[in-house]
Amino acid sequence: MPAVIDLLNDDPRKKGDMRHPEKAHRPDNPIQRKPDWIRAKAPGSPKWAETNRIVREHNLVTVCEEASCPNVGECWEKKHATFMIMGDTCTRACAFCNVKTGMPNALDRYEPEKIADAVSKLGLTHVVITSVDRDDLADGGAQHFAEVINAIRATSPHTTIEILTPDFLRKDGALEIVVKAKPDVFNHNLETVPSNYLTVRPGARYFHSIRLLQRVRELDPSIFTKSGIMVGLGEKRNEVLQLMDDLRSAEVDFLTIGQYLQPTKKHHAVIDFITPDAFKAYETIAYTKGFLLVSATPLTRSSHHAGEDFAKLRAAREAQLKK
Ligand code: SF4
Repeated sequence: MPAVIDLLNDDPRKKGDMRHPEKAHRPDNPIQRKPDWIRAKAPGSPKWAETNRIVREHNLVTVCEEASCPNVGECWEKKHATFMIMGDTCTRACAFCNVKTGMPNALDRYEPEKIADAVSKLGLTHVVITSVDRDDLADGGAQHFAEVINAIRATSPHTTIEILTPDFLRKDGALEIVVKAKPDVFNHNLETVPSNYLTVRPGARYFHSIRLLQRVRELDPSIFTKSGIMVGLGEKRNEVLQLMDDLRSAEVDFLTIGQYLQPTKKHHAVIDFITPDAFKAYETIAYTKGFLLVSATPLTRSSHHAGEDFAKLRAAREAQLKK
């Protein structure tokens, strides 16, 4: 699931105990004041309102809202909404994530067409599709992902498609279904370093996620692979460098690194705010390790600037092939 973020003060998503029953009895983690370098554009411009209208008209779920992303003012002004398919309720319960948890509803079989229509109305040249985890489905939702990709291809053949998927843990054959639909970018986030998995991402397995990304590359080398982490969760610098090596072993093309921000007092605490200089150092090191593209800033999120970054990714691969 996507890397997550910040909350507006009057946002109902702040009520972590309502959206996350499994966290209701956890001790409170006071939310720290953010440093000056974390400032995002407020939502509300006319273009933001137009994006908002199209999302509402199609009755769609976006991770921008569900995760309370701080970039929503900037992204929606450019009509860049990231759609979250298969409902608004996740079957996992990660300690960082603000997406509602519980037992999800049945899939909406009209969702692929609704998404495709919204992509067309927004005039998107690049779209990012993510989802909740659907451990309750036999294929983890792989077929639904494929149907969404196919529906967008049918109505917007020139739009490039990026997917940000769950890990399809214990869902044999699921990954192959998604890869066969040929997204342009396959993103799966590691979210954090392995030593944090038990406390931050308890339902997942670090090496399964690495292997998933490697398998995408084996199945279809034309698809770009991408992964991301949040920092500020207590990870050590050397652990981040090791994680970069693990991703490069799986030949992952694009790495994103952003600051973790705590959605509610029931979520994992921010252990530290990483300075812009430290982000820059991570970026420099990641390039030396061979990533085609790196985005490492406090407000970097998986889907932030995804369209512009896709163009850079394609150019970087072409330049590499010419060498
Ligand atoms: S960064 Fe991604 S999740 Fe956040 S507002 Fe932009 S498109 Fe939405």
